[in-house]
Amino acid sequence: MTVDSKPSAVARPRSYTCPGCSANLLFEPQDGCLTCPYCGRKEMIPESATEIQERSYEQYLQPRSAQMGTLAATALEVKCDSCGAIVTFAPPDVAGECAFCGTKIVAQPKSADPLVAPEALLPFGITAKQSNDTVKNWLATRWFAPTALKRLAYQESIEGVYLPFWTYDANTTSFYTGQRGEHYYDTETYTESDEQGNTVTRTRQVQRTRWYPASGTVTRWVDDILVAGTTSISRARLTSLEPWDLHALKPYDPAFLSGFKAQRYQVELAEGFEHAKVMIAPLIEQDVREDIGGDEQSIGNISTSYSAITFKHLLLPVYIGAYRFQEKVYQVMVNARTGEVQGDRPYSFWKIFFFVLLLVALIGIVVFFAKSR
Ligand SMILES: [Zn+2]
Ligand SMILES: [Zn+2]
Repeated sequence: MTVDSKPSAVARPRSYTCPGCSANLLFEPQDGCLTCPYCGRKEMIPESATEIQERSYEQYLQPRSAQMGTLAATALEVKCDSCGAIVTFAPPDVAGECAFCGTKIVAQPKSADPLVAPEALLPFGITAKQSNDTVKNWLATRWFAPTALKRLAYQESIEGVYLPFWTYDANTTSFYTGQRGEHYYDTETYTESDEQGNTVTRTRQVQRTRWYPASGTVTRWVDDILVAGTTSISRARLTSLEPWDLHALKPYDPAFLSGFKAQRYQVELAEGFEHAKVMIAPLIEQDVREDIGGDEQSIGNISTSYSAITFKHLLLPVYIGAYRFQEKVYQVMVNARTGEVQGDRPYSFWKIFFFVLLLVALIGIVVFFAKSR
């Protein structure tokens, strides 16, 4: 466990301007360099010497101001009035439309509030162009998709956003009570009718369970339990975007953010740990069953204490676009590491209606000509 109280590395001011033409340099997913969109000049992001460290959960439950930071020196943030998502971005990027709900953002951006700064991120691995192409391919296999969805890809209104995640490590100690079931076999007599219709008495073996009280303690070290810090995207959708190649995490550097937005976490540190506990519970239950042993187990109560809890705040990259269709918000997103597309696809009533109408008309014509011959 590492305990740190140093101010986060993200507070250091740095500007990313092109030494050639002083335009703003943007992060280029293809080679991982900061690139000038005008003259093409490239600058490497220096490999960070700092290791990605776990932070002490206890120390951050009431973080001191020194433990908080912003994502970049010039970071602005803006809140979507419609869905409540807060996104951070750096000029010259603008707020634009909310990537999560598709609403035009009207609020004025303000300088970003401090947050528990991210420890690490996965940089964008595919470009906006590649992500748009994958979404177009995905759309091509979606019949009857509403025009609002097609517009999303064709107007390139799918945006690169870093989503916030927490990971937790902890030592767990669980005391349990329950019962161990052991099977034994009884000989049972029963009657049935044979082929001639005579009642006969036969015997058979039946399995029964004898229960014994059981109790004990199991311990387990859990590592990197990944919990979403966003509530703008459903948990099921986030799960379907997995896997994330978390072994490729880079120490956080604001340079990676250049040209992308980042969502501020909506799930606080402590709330995230409650989700982690729910994810850990089945693992502990499995340990308890193994510890009870026997042929069957019945668990009465498990009481778990957690110690040496550490966490990381991570940013993971997605391209996301949202559109409204019949009063509902639909999202399409791409895992910006793997290119995996996930999205909602409502069926356009009118497209299906006219398609069916066309079919009926065609059948009518065929029948008409068949009869008139
Ligand atoms: Zn330049
Ligand atoms: Zn929104």
